[in-house]
Amino acid sequence: MRPERITKTPEVVRASTPITDPSMKDIPLAYLMAVKNNENLDDCCRDFDNMHVELQKTDPALESANKLVVACGQCGKKQTRFVGGSANTKAG
Ligand SMILES: [Zn+2]
Repeated sequence: MRPERITKTPEVVRASTPITDPSMKDIPLAYLMAVKNNENLDDCCRDFDNMHVELQKTDPALESANKLVVACGQCGKKQTRFVGGSANTKAG
């Protein structure tokens, strides 16, 4: 008998891939810029050359990934960003 899991484990849609890889060009730049512009992070974590992104779905019913895990290839720290259905950025 398998024990039932209480916590949902996100489904990995795409394994961690360097953002410099051509296959990652569909990652919205806004999410990467949010990491790049975060002054609380170490310089290595903000360098595009170090960023690896893993795409996850927190709900198997979703059609596409709703969570990005941006990992630093140098120090290994991870930043998590949730991708909403629409980006509600207010201009002005
Ligand atoms: Zn780092």
